[in-house]
Amino acid sequence: MTFSNKQRNYIEDLIAFDTTSIHSNLDLIDHVTKILERTRARITLNFNPDKTKANLIASIGPPEAEGGVIFSGHTDTVPVTGQDWSTNPYRAVEENGKIFARGSTDMKGFCGLALAAFEHVATEHESKLQKPLHLLLTYDEEVGCIGAQNFVTTNSHLLTKPDLILVGEPTNLRPILAHKGIRCFNASAKGHGYHSSAPDKGVSAIQYNARLSGYVYRIGESLKNEGITDLRFDPSYSTVNVGTIQGGSAVNVVADECVFSFETRPVPGDNGDVLVEKFLAAQEKVQNCFKKAARDTGLELHLALDEYVSVPPFDGNEHHPGSKLLINLLDDKTVGVAPFCTEAGIFQNAGWNSIVCGPGSIEQAHQPDEFITIDQLKRGAHLIEKISHRCFEPA
Ligand SMILES: [Zn+2]
Repeated sequence: MTFSNKQRNYIEDLIAFDTTSIHSNLDLIDHVTKILERTRARITLNFNPDKTKANLIASIGPPEAEGGVIFSGHTDTVPVTGQDWSTNPYRAVEENGKIFARGSTDMKGFCGLALAAFEHVATEHESKLQKPLHLLLTYDEEVGCIGAQNFVTTNSHLLTKPDLILVGEPTNLRPILAHKGIRCFNASAKGHGYHSSAPDKGVSAIQYNARLSGYVYRIGESLKNEGITDLRFDPSYSTVNVGTIQGGSAVNVVADECVFSFETRPVPGDNGDVLVEKFLAAQEKVQNCFKKAARDTGLELHLALDEYVSVPPFDGNEHHPGSKLLINLLDDKTVGVAPFCTEAGIFQNAGWNSIVCGPGSIEQAHQPDEFITIDQLKRGAHLIEKISHRCFEPA
């Protein structure tokens, strides 16, 4: 197993682009496009609405053939703000068999390896391809898998159904076949400010939203006790959490505004809709109570629910031929679940057999002095090469 200079350079070049999710990823996409334009790969860019970010899909091999493989990685990284780094996070530094940099493990290490492998097949083995090989690089994974959702909605028709889409998130090269989803919401209340000496002349947004935030936990209890359980996870049920609550300006003022944010992490089989329906029903009930009490006063209360992240749970199929192919190539064949979210649920829901498996450890992801070991990169490169050979076999 080797780790070539080319692979190293590709990873280092990707790391050098600061693609924190709040920034554009277009310089990185342009860089990759230029590399791939030297091959006969078919390249499509799929932009976000304001054209500041793009997914890239590159394909080689017979476009109409069923099967084949997609290597998929996200290009964005989490911020380094407030983190104490020993080195420049956007310059790869190798020390003691590890490469340190933001995104080294999550997940420019994988992206660089996949790019090198894709380019190698496109340059050296194109005539051998019996099935298409694809490289998919997405934007905004870290802020809700937005790029992947855009890609699946607008561009999935470009591809035939693959045998496997390998989502190369860092799992230490263990096969991950399931994870929970995540949905995040803001619940806002707008009332009417007034001096606290006469609270009845105002409408306290805090009063109503406090009731509703408490109700989120009651829904959480019911999901725990009566909802779907999946013993692969700890905890085995869909969870909820109210993470922030803001409102009011002073103790002697009736608060005119209050917002709280909450999330649910649904297990496979639960899409989070039960929570949403129950919460909306509770909002309506609170609204009706208010209407009754505020009759003839002319005062108003506005309640709203805004969803800002929605990533479905992932439940893969370990018995699919594409999954078996991958699992058989791994040293550790134990199928597991992940405590984090990925794009795999979106791809699986689109009908593409998905597995999450990539070099590096999630424990280093998002941390200061993030690193990936050269050993994991070697093993990752070997795995990617072997999987790409799948496309040389007849359908
Ligand atoms: Zn990631």
